Amino acid sequence: MKNKEISAKKYVSQKIYIVNSILISCHIVFSCIFSYFNIDILFYVNLVNITLCLLAFICLKQHKIKQYALIAFIELYIFMLASLFFLGWEMGFQYYCISFTVTIFFCDFYLNKMERVSKNSIAVGIFNMLLYIGFRLWTYHHAPIYVIENTVIVRGIFLINTILTFFFVSLYMVIYATTVCKLEKELRYVAENDSLTGLFNRRKMMEILEEIINSENNKNLVVAMIDIDYFKKVNDSYGHDAGDKVLTKIAEVLKNHNFENSKVSVCRWGGEEFLILNEYDCSKDDIIQVFENLRKTVENCNIEYDNKKIKITITAGISFYQKETSLNLILKKADLLLYKGKELGRNQVIYEKSDLDSCSK
Ligand code: GH3
Ligand code: MG
Ligand code: MG
Repeated sequence: MKNKEISAKKYVSQKIYIVNSILISCHIVFSCIFSYFNIDILFYVNLVNITLCLLAFICLKQHKIKQYALIAFIELYIFMLASLFFLGWEMGFQYYCISFTVTIFFCDFYLNKMERVSKNSIAVGIFNMLLYIGFRLWTYHHAPIYVIENTVIVRGIFLINTILTFFFVSLYMVIYATTVCKLEKELRYVAENDSLTGLFNRRKMMEILEEIINSENNKNLVVAMIDIDYFKKVNDSYGHDAGDKVLTKIAEVLKNHNFENSKVSVCRWGGEEFLILNEYDCSKDDIIQVFENLRKTVENCNIEYDNKKIKITITAGISFYQKETSLNLILKKADLLLYKGKELGRNQVIYEKSDLDSCSK
């Protein structure tokens, strides 16, 4: 939990680095403009703002988001209020009410694990809205104290302020959207994969199987139910962790096996059982050979745990899809063949000879 909080803070800090860097550059530009037009008070305000932005950098470096927010709060309000007071409404300094509200909501939302926005942020949002309206009303009745005669500069400042507001709002939206996509991807992975081996889980495999069976395509489908032999002994002799390592290693072997370019989905069906769906493009004899090779690869595989070598074998029941076969029937057949293999002594690939056009075993 603590780690998650730290990584959220780190993430927010990294993103706000960009915002802070842009703000500091803008304050430098503004201080040059105000110095050029001899508006000393706003020149000094911008120097204070630059100092506060530098302080904010230190907070960001230490991932102190709350302190950063406080400094940013002071910095932006000083800047916005002074600029509006001395230069009036025309140059768009009021838009910082919007970008500041969005910044506060964004930081808050992230630090609250993307579940809610705190009452404080909502209060700041309402305060900013009232401030915006209040200043609009105030500028109706009060002329600006300083007037910059150069319309290009006035329009330029307005443009900078407008672009910055659009930039901030868009930046947060993009960050939010990419984070939601990332989370969705992670959630989908958890929902579809087994946490120990990373293979598909049973639910996902049923979905794939259903999709293949219901598709219009000509199906050359084979289903293999695979079970590790005497796996309980591995747990009993070497411990549960060794058992887990064996499961991970076997999963790796199944996933990396050469299925001769055919389309393959591998899943952990449960416990020490795996299911393979193989849409093949060769003869049934060749497919049996592919599974026979897989059995041999596992048999020859040395799994090391605690400087001990663990030998493993598997038994597989192979069921070929036939037209009109139901999903449950094809699975049941693979299961029955697997148990037949167990009865026959394990470490073998079992299939129904009638399933093959010609068979090599
Ligand atoms: P058989 O050759 O007949 O398949 O014998 P077996 O020992 O492999 O089968 P059995 O069903 O008797 O034992 C399966 C064992 O697998 C029992 C269970 O504790 C263990 N197991 C199931 N899931 C896991 C797991 O995620 N990790 C570990 N380490 N063991 C598991
Ligand atoms: Mg077993
Ligand atoms: Mg089993």
